[in-house]
Amino acid sequence: MSQTDVLVVGAGPAGLTAAQELGRRGIRVTVIDEYPTAGGRLLGQLYQAGDHWWVGRQVAEQLLSDISGHPAVRLRLGTSVSGLERRDKGWVVEDTSGGEPAMARAVLLATGAAEIPIAIPGWTLPGVMTVGAAQVMANVHRVRPGQRGVIVGLGALSFAVAQELRWAGVDLAGIVMPPPPRNGMPGWTVEEEWRKMAHLAHLAPTWMRPLSSLLRRAGWRRRLLAGAPQAGVAVAGTRLRPNVAALAIEGDAAVSAVVLQRLNGHGNLVGEPWREAVDFVCTSGGLRPIPDLAAAAGAAMHYSWDGRYDVPLFGPCGDTTVPGLYVAGNILGIEGAAVAMAQGQLASVGILRHLLGKPDGFGPEADQFALQLAEARRHAPLVFDPAWAAIHEKVMADFQRETREG
Ligand SMILES: Cc1cc2nc3c(=O)[nH]c(=O)nc-3n(C[C@H](O)[C@H](O)[C@H](O)COP(=O)(O)OP(=O)(O)OC[C@H]3O[C@@H](n4cnc5c(N)ncnc54)[C@H](O)[C@@H]3O)c2cc1C
Repeated sequence: MSQTDVLVVGAGPAGLTAAQELGRRGIRVTVIDEYPTAGGRLLGQLYQAGDHWWVGRQVAEQLLSDISGHPAVRLRLGTSVSGLERRDKGWVVEDTSGGEPAMARAVLLATGAAEIPIAIPGWTLPGVMTVGAAQVMANVHRVRPGQRGVIVGLGALSFAVAQELRWAGVDLAGIVMPPPPRNGMPGWTVEEEWRKMAHLAHLAPTWMRPLSSLLRRAGWRRRLLAGAPQAGVAVAGTRLRPNVAALAIEGDAAVSAVVLQRLNGHGNLVGEPWREAVDFVCTSGGLRPIPDLAAAAGAAMHYSWDGRYDVPLFGPCGDTTVPGLYVAGNILGIEGAAVAMAQGQLASVGILRHLLGKPDGFGPEADQFALQLAEARRHAPLVFDPAWAAIHEKVMADFQRETREG
């Protein structure tokens, strides 16, 4: 059985940053990732953050170059971790390589997030993909997903990917809504969708930014709504169409059209459907953390009715309720890469404390990394889902209660 001090599952920004911090202190770390290239979701990220460009691939390359200076850190790619078992002296970690399981004194789970698909008629046709898949095609493999497409599902990620696709030379028919359930969308209003879009307008190029403050004013939103055409309103060159829903995707061997219909202010379908010619469709139902390994390892969890907010209870340094098991990054909730990196730094402190038997050690480092986490949140260019802030507060309070009582 191979031995290491720390086994990190996930070579995204959270896992790599933690490995870098631990490696520079001479701790033996093995990082396992099922993808053949390290970097996680960083690899596809490309957007304007304030006055500079965030090029995720370059951030990943920098992290990997830093790590290569620490001989105690090993990377194993193309291998999926399938099981964890706690023993007296640490963890036995099984993977899909067919080799011997690894033995580690501590485990960090940095498994990231998954996309939630939208199943509408025609969604299995070639040419239908999630926005994340389109992002990887365009930004990682430099392949256009098609000539003309539409995105179904409005959110921070779909807006960011729409911009990236346009930079890749793709013609987009805009971002439309998924079909409403039969009784309409309870509590849904077009106006609320426009309000959400105000949070996205800051991603627009500088000259477009004034639109953001206009969208935040109710009067302007109503004016924009009243005059909103079926073709949508362009924000930073992307047509946002929150009053149009995609009912079905059509095509024989591959996508050739999308069937659309107008939504009224309550989220009900009105008028007649029509077809628009497209050769690809991206769906964007949101992101959810991947907490399965934490749950399987026995960590106390916070569960939500639809699974979107299932996360392990966690403490300030990524501790879980199971000794020696740590978490960082999007497994804790959906935020950007800079936040995941700060969470990786904090988890490295938690792990050092565990390995060295100093539960209150490394106070200055913990304070500095907590500050960096707060800064990363303050300057986050994308806010995926504002609900996470309240969930984190509750989950951390539940963690304190569980560990005090335990
Ligand atoms: C489709 C998608 C697109 C995104 N686009 C953006 C964007 O444009 N901008 C932005 O700011 N944020 C984006 N995000 C959010 C993104 O997740 C964070 O920015 C950041 O990458 C999170 O870092 P992480 O290290 O927690 O996870 P990730 O970067 O997701 O890395 C997790 C890694 O864990 C690996 N893994 C998971 N399970 C296992 C297992 N069992 N065994 C082995 N390896 C495993 C995965 O292969 C992956 O490489 C996106 C997220 C997704 C899902």
